[in-house]
This record gives sequence, structure tokens and C-alpha cells, in this order.
Amino acid sequence: MKQICILGSTGSIGTQALDVIEQHSDRYEVYCLTANNRYEMLAEQARKFRPAAVVIANKAHYEALKLLLADLPDIKVYAGAKALDEIVEAQPIDMVLTAMVGFAGLSPTIHAIKARKTICLANKETLVVAGDLICRLAAEYHVNILPVDSEHSAIFQSIVGEGDNEIEKILLTASGGPFRKFTLDQMRDVKAADALRHPTWDMGAKITIDSASMMNKGFEVIEAKWLFGVEADKIQVLVHPQSIVHSAVQFRDGGVKAQLGVPDMRLPIQYAFSFPERLPLNGDRLDLFRQPLEFFEPDMEKFRCLAMAYESIRRGGNVPCIMNAANEVVNEAFRHDRCGFLQMADIIEATMQRATFIAQPTYDDYIASDAEARRIAESML
Ligand code: NAD
Ligand code: MG
Repeated sequence: MKQICILGSTGSIGTQALDVIEQHSDRYEVYCLTANNRYEMLAEQARKFRPAAVVIANKAHYEALKLLLADLPDIKVYAGAKALDEIVEAQPIDMVLTAMVGFAGLSPTIHAIKARKTICLANKETLVVAGDLICRLAAEYHVNILPVDSEHSAIFQSIVGEGDNEIEKILLTASGGPFRKFTLDQMRDVKAADALRHPTWDMGAKITIDSASMMNKGFEVIEAKWLFGVEADKIQVLVHPQSIVHSAVQFRDGGVKAQLGVPDMRLPIQYAFSFPERLPLNGDRLDLFRQPLEFFEPDMEKFRCLAMAYESIRRGGNVPCIMNAANEVVNEAFRHDRCGFLQMADIIEATMQRATFIAQPTYDDYIASDAEARRIAESML
């Protein structure tokens, strides 16, 4: 029995992970479930999966959650961000699935690594912000970081068995989002509701907006750089509207290996849990006769966030951290109609120029840079 801790169990990734765990209840047990605000759903999940503990990050919901679970005294109830850092260290836990959204994932991920837990990484912001620190810690504590992001799982699945064979190039696919064919003029007026209609994936609100701006793909370039140790100039983004080829790897003999399938996040989640084994998974199967597979070059002038992500890697240090913080601010503002769609890139770019550059940031520097960049971005709204 593998004991799993899910950070962010009420979200899109979290609920799909619980579906996987339910289908393989002979192998996986839930040790801990956590959420930020949705305490009622968290209580329902706890009632069903009977974890040893639940954590609600927002302390305001502690009493209400405790009341809902009053008849289940075996389930410990905790609250607050610090409780997340502590719970991931619990001795029985084998794997921590980081399925919470944003910068808040950084601290519990570091704690989990230091407690030598296998990391199933969905929270890409952690690697965007502090990829160097996370990779150094993972090496130091001999911890595996298994990708859950579909593209990175595809890359990972493509290099399994390749040993020391060098990656010549990564082909990172992108759906292109709902505004792929829009002109800049059309993009100027789009609202959150338009951006939340993703053509191929059903995901949480924050990442869906990031997908529409292609900041998500920029983040994934950074994520791939750290996970696979490949420089950004060897990571090529391909717009592939069908989301069937989940990404590919080219080797030095020109051979290209890809992983294909219908868009279903349960496969990468399950593969991270079961690696190196493959387990059965119900659901749709790929029918290659149904549609053509198309690939296009991304338009970096229209999707400036993608260009800025490459720029942030080139500048290095805390610049990706600054970019992430500014993006979290404008992403939320756009969802609440306080920022225009194209204005998001303007504010991120200006924040990247104005925030203090640190070439070799420590953990405390990342915390400070995140706060400074948020202040700068907020001031421009
Ligand atoms: P979501 O918004 O659906 O769920 C987020 C979860 O995190 C919720 O359970 C929420 O309660 C919790 N949470 C949010 N803020 C928190 C905080 N400050 N402290 C503690 N918990 C908090 O998001 P999602 O779509 O499931 O995405 C989760 C992560 O996985 C993100 O980093 C995203 O980029 C990544 N990811 C998601 C998908 C997808 O298909 N949804 C694919 C690839 C990667
Ligand atoms: Mg992805």
C-alpha cells in the first residue's frame, strides 16, 4: 500500500487523482487531503476516503470543517499554510501530489523533499519560481520528482529506457487555447468567460487563463528545462490544436519518440503514481482515423507571455519568480474584470523590468521577490 498526500484535493487535478486512487484502492491509500476554501467538498472527500488527516489552508474555515467531521474523530483536522508544511512530513506518507495552484505550492514541496517523499509534481509554479533550488534539494535528498503535467509526462514516458542517451530536442506541444485564430484586435476585448472555454482540456480557472495567454506554455518550457536538464534553445513549442500528441523527444540519431492519447489527465496522474508500471485505466481510447493531427509555429508577437518566458530563462536568477508573481496578480485581476487580456502581458513585462534582479537567489530571496513583484504588478492595475 502506497500512502498518498494530495495537496489541493478539491481541484481539477486533485479530484481526478482521487478517481485514480479509487480505481486502484488495492495499491493506494489517501493519507491526507488538503484544500484552500472548499471545506464542504473536503469533508465529503474525507468521509469517502478516510484519510488520517485533512488540512484547510484558509483558517477561516477550520471550525466549520471540524464540525462537519465531528462524527469521525479518527480524522485529524488542521488549518493554515504552516500545517501544510508539517503534514507532508508525516512518517507514513510515500508520495506527495502537489496539485495546489500557484506560488503557495513552493514551501510544502520543499518540506516534502526534505522529508524524502516522492514528489508527483502538478504544481508547475514551484519549478518556474525556484527550479534550481528544487532540483538541488531533490538531488541532495535523493528524491524523485515525477511529472504530472501531461506534456512532461509524455516527455518522461518517451525517455524511459533511454538511459544516458542525450536529448537533442524537446518538442513541446500546445493546444493554442481558445484565441489561437484571433487577431490582436479581437484579443483586446475578450473576457474571462471567453478565456475559460478551453477547446481540449477541462482544468482549474487559473491554468485555463494561463493557457489562453500561452503563459502556461512558457511555464512548461521552464518546467521542462528543470525536469529534464535541457536548455531552452532546445525546447521547441508546437501548436497542436487536437491535443493528441502530448509532446515528443528527438534524439541525436534523429529518432523522435512521442506519447499520444486522448486528453485525459488521469493517465499522467496515474503514471506518476505507478511508474515504472502501467496500470489499467478506463476511459476513451485514441482513434487516429477521427481527425488529422496538425502542427503550427506559435505566434510569439500575439502571445507575448510565451516570448517573455523564454526571456526570463535567458536572464535567469529570480526573473522567472518575478514573472510568475506578476502573472498570478494579473491572472486573478483578469478573472475579476480588473485587467484586460492584452494588458496582462504589459504588466508582467513592466514588472520584470522594475523588480530587483538577484542572480543567485536563496529561498528567502524568492519569498521577497515574489512579494515585491506582486506589489509592483498590483500598483499598475
Ligand atoms: P484548481 O484550481 O482546480 O485546484 C487547486 C487546488 O489547490 C484546490 O484544491 C484548492 O483548494 C487548492 N489551493 C488553491 N490555493 C491554495 C493555497 N493558497 N493553499 C492551499 N491550497 C490551495 O487547479 P488545478 O487545475 O487542479 O491545478 C493545480 C495545479 O496543477 C496547478 O499548478 C496547475 O498549473 C497544475 N496543472 C493542472 C492541470 C489540469 O489539467 N488541471 C494540468 C497540468 C498542470
Ligand atoms: Mg500541460
